Amino acid sequence: MNKTPLALLFLLTACGYRDREADLVVHNAVIHSMDEMGTVHQAMAIKDGRILELGPEHQIRNRYSTKETFDAGGQHVYPGFIDGHCHFLGYGLNKQKVDLSGTTSWAEVLERTKAFAEAHPEKTWIMGRGWDQNDWTVKDMPDRDELDQLFPDKPVLLQRVDGHMAVANAVALRHAGINSGSKVSGGQIVGRFTTPDGDGSWMDPNALKEVIHMRYPMWEPTGLLVDNAFNVFQAIFDEADDATKREGLLTAQRDCFAAGLTGVHDAGLDTGTIALIQRMHEAGELKIRVYAMVSDAPENLAHFAKRGAIQTDRLTVRSVKVYGDGALGSRGACLKEPYSDQPDSHGALLASRDHFMEVARWCDAHGFQMNTHCIGDSANKVLLDVYGEVLGGTNDKRWRIEHAQVVSAPDRALFARYSIIPSVQPTHATSDGPWALDRLGPDRINDAYAYEELRHTLGLLALGTDFPVEGIDPLQTFRSAVLRQSADGWPEGGYHPENALTRTDALRGMTIWNAIASFSEKELGSLEKAKRADFTVVNSDLEKASPEQLRLAKVTSTWLNGERVFKQ
Ligand SMILES: [Zn+2]
Repeated sequence: MNKTPLALLFLLTACGYRDREADLVVHNAVIHSMDEMGTVHQAMAIKDGRILELGPEHQIRNRYSTKETFDAGGQHVYPGFIDGHCHFLGYGLNKQKVDLSGTTSWAEVLERTKAFAEAHPEKTWIMGRGWDQNDWTVKDMPDRDELDQLFPDKPVLLQRVDGHMAVANAVALRHAGINSGSKVSGGQIVGRFTTPDGDGSWMDPNALKEVIHMRYPMWEPTGLLVDNAFNVFQAIFDEADDATKREGLLTAQRDCFAAGLTGVHDAGLDTGTIALIQRMHEAGELKIRVYAMVSDAPENLAHFAKRGAIQTDRLTVRSVKVYGDGALGSRGACLKEPYSDQPDSHGALLASRDHFMEVARWCDAHGFQMNTHCIGDSANKVLLDVYGEVLGGTNDKRWRIEHAQVVSAPDRALFARYSIIPSVQPTHATSDGPWALDRLGPDRINDAYAYEELRHTLGLLALGTDFPVEGIDPLQTFRSAVLRQSADGWPEGGYHPENALTRTDALRGMTIWNAIASFSEKELGSLEKAKRADFTVVNSDLEKASPEQLRLAKVTSTWLNGERVFKQ
């Protein structure tokens, strides 16, 4: 008699055959639990959204009777991927806009906008993004005339590719309160002259002298707006009725599930959006787990000072998102020494040290985590010092530096000294790589995107993407972290490969370390008994696949709380 039937016989007599109930049994799988020991299992049983048991195939199959069985076909099962820094709502709202990139004429812009409006009759606003008159055969700046004809009743705003210019129709201008008397600082409302009683034809704005001699010359906006002049529209859109936001959140959720994400850390939401997310969770229409960082604004902090933290099954609110400085690409990041390609500029902090200190004290007093966007080495140093002054030493408050993009070597020790978690986005290294050296020069570049060095400080990293700034795909995060290569394989050999993460650490960063960075490691981040059954099925072994196989790796299904939320 060989051993297997004996073991089976024992199992049958000792435990009874399928005498326990499960909602779901996952089997014929390679389940990477990501527990402390790195245990791998073949099967697991799930009930009421939690894991009952993990173990060998025969043990789980023989022990449980189940409503649903999932044969993974030998595929690899990981704890549900979590994006540690993204803009979940922002991504969803972006998707509510007409994509105008690559248009070759103003007529094509109008066509696409019209088609979008027809496809979305429920929309109260039409927003577009991405036109560039340099790509058009006629390179004149557009005005609102044709938009007014096409959309006499519905507000329309179409942003240029750089986000610094937009054209709006008359209804949109009216909504925003922009009229012939409007002035705006830090922006421009482009205007022209017309006659009040004429045939409606516009005058050449350069013909000012002639106009002055007319009886009632009228100045009118052409619809073209620069910088601050249209920021008001973004605010209107962001504060759009809940219907637009709801649609944005659902679109973002769908794309996240398809990418294998079961949780997101949204880096900056206001109280209204957080309340909407909570209502949508309660109604069961939004399922994804959201770790919402509260945007640093007085009204938000006042609200949460009164209300306190939020902790439900799917929503956690107990952190504040602060902006330390700007971005490296636009030279807004705050550096200790001037930019290598602009010697008269250091960039700047976006608030005073006093303000950062005030927020830090507020967070400390209210039991909130402080998460600050820091790109430049100066911003990182200032905020690490502010954190240190309030935290005093090692602690379990888990304050985070978001991006930690350029950190001087001596400052790295501060992460460990004050138990500060670096929260980084590996795709930034491979996206910024082509120009980062110009900004930073050959010495400082070694302090940039130094993820393995940062991992070394506290022993963990939160990994994310910053989508929609980058793509949403966690498998690209993984490839950028371990291969240090972009989706199209740039650069050969990897970008500063000495800062690649090990594959196991990259997986930890997308799962258990993100759970720790959001105080949810008792529920999420690994597949262990009694934890939530959030898992992602991948057709490839992420720890062993060759780089070529890794590029072909795909998420084939996503499960949240034991429920399948995506199937390829
Ligand atoms: Zn961000």
